[in-house]
Amino acid sequence: MEDFYTIQGEGFYQGFAAYFIRLGGCDVGCVWCDVKESWDVNAHPLLTVQELVQRVTKSKAPIAVITGGEPAMHDLSLLTNELQQAGIKTNIETSGVYPLTGQWDWVCFSPKKFKAPDSSIYKQANELKIIVYNKSDFEWAEEFASKVNSDCELFLQPEWSKEKEMLPLIIDYVKTNPKWKVSLQIHKYMNIP
Ligand code: SF4
Repeated sequence: MEDFYTIQGEGFYQGFAAYFIRLGGCDVGCVWCDVKESWDVNAHPLLTVQELVQRVTKSKAPIAVITGGEPAMHDLSLLTNELQQAGIKTNIETSGVYPLTGQWDWVCFSPKKFKAPDSSIYKQANELKIIVYNKSDFEWAEEFASKVNSDCELFLQPEWSKEKEMLPLIIDYVKTNPKWKVSLQIHKYMNIP
């Protein structure tokens, strides 16, 4: 759908320079999705893996973040293999609804209430990022925290349109349950993509 060099705004790699590759296609259907234009897999130009890898290497980015849409809809073996061979770290942001393909240096698992994840993601996740849209999401977050590995990084992030309402609750929750950390979409404060 699009690719650009920017700063990772969320989660464990927040603040790191990273090249984003946003792949078209998603069938998860989050009501608050801020990239609904990504959903139609056929609405975006096709690029070769070589072209994409060339763009990343030219940018000098140390990390490529493969996102979407739901990037795990695609077979990512060739893309991740070529990126790693070029010395670029491969990070994915996925809702976990499809089994992962490819080789990953970092897996950010962000489950969504609108479609259940495939259980294979639990042991692969390096990071669990829960988007908090309403109060009941804390209990829902704990369900997943109990399923991922004990060294998985745990983040609670307010949904952008609910930030004013949810951030104070997240702050209190993290203070009481310090295994969690707060994640904010700092790219939106910086006005960068
Ligand atoms: S999984 Fe991501 S891209 Fe898909 S609908 Fe949800 S927020 Fe949007």
